[in-house]
Amino acid sequence: MELLNRLVVASLPLVPMPVVRRLAARYIAGETLADAVRTVRALTAEGACATLDVLGEDVTTRGQASSQRDQCTQTLEAIAREKVDSNLSIKLTSLGLKIDPAFCRENVRALLEVAARLGIFVRFDMEDSSCTTATIELFRDLNREFPRTGIVLQAYLRRSEADLRSLPPGTNYRIVKGIYREPPEIAFQDREEIQRSFLRLLRLMLEGGSYVGIATHDEVLVDGALKVLEELRLTRDRYELQMLLGVLSELRRRILAQGHKLRVYVPFGPNWYGYSTRRFKENPTVAGYVFRAMLRSM
Ligand SMILES: Cc1cc2nc3c(=O)[nH]c(=O)nc-3n(C[C@H](O)[C@H](O)[C@H](O)COP(=O)(O)OP(=O)(O)OC[C@H]3O[C@@H](n4cnc5c(N)ncnc54)[C@H](O)[C@@H]3O)c2cc1C
Repeated sequence: MELLNRLVVASLPLVPMPVVRRLAARYIAGETLADAVRTVRALTAEGACATLDVLGEDVTTRGQASSQRDQCTQTLEAIAREKVDSNLSIKLTSLGLKIDPAFCRENVRALLEVAARLGIFVRFDMEDSSCTTATIELFRDLNREFPRTGIVLQAYLRRSEADLRSLPPGTNYRIVKGIYREPPEIAFQDREEIQRSFLRLLRLMLEGGSYVGIATHDEVLVDGALKVLEELRLTRDRYELQMLLGVLSELRRRILAQGHKLRVYVPFGPNWYGYSTRRFKENPTVAGYVFRAMLRSM
């Protein structure tokens, strides 16, 4: 199966676009803001809330980054206008981090001004390890001026505990395992070691008074996190669970049935290709679907 998965992943660029689009449909809300608003409304009807992500990978020019900033601004305005239960997640590379950090800062600052005016929380997603220090520094800087912001720490990075200790107590966090391939010198590779790190960081965050978005579909971690919350006797206004759109709806229903707050990460936008192929690469079952769909389309 492992070999088959690797073959499927390697051949993804050969898969016809309409096939990828069909398979991607469950992971992304659609291409437009109207699609995103519709998806958030459906999640609200289920009892969940959302965080919107304007897909914008591989930004290489200032023009693309400015366009991404404008789309994020329109998203904030739509959240307020349509009164949907959502905040916004942003990726600094799509706002120009790799082009020029000062230019990126201006884009993020402009966005945060709109978000502050509209009363909407903004989360800084965490990207690969080449962005960690810059993301934390920009967050540290702007969070002083815009307190309704939060950051993500990745449990697989060895540095995350030190980063946590370097950020102000009470910082609003999302804790995740980490999605990028990182070398063993800087990242734990073993599944159980990552799980232990996740729960250790979660405990430190909560003990430090932070509000935490616990973002995982791993039942061992969901159960482990609920145990930590119970031990610390935390009320439900101190945390939320978070999942990606289209992943494990059964677990989503279980969490909601238990009365926890649940936020679903809702990506949308015309740049859906990179995001969806990353989802396929992560999940063997999806890789299997891709393989079968590819055969059918030949
Ligand atoms: C709300 C949210 C925000 C995130 N933000 C970031 C971020 O800013 N930076 C970052 O590096 N990572 C982010 N991630 C991704 C995270 O780091 C993990 O890569 C991802 O959640 C998979 O790990 P897991 O804890 O769900 O456990 P896993 O053990 O990987 O997954 C448990 C089970 O969930 C299912 N599953 C998991 N992922 C998928 C998928 N993509 N498609 C289909 N089924 C799946 C599978 O059945 C799997 O067996 C985010 C995840 C979530 C839920």
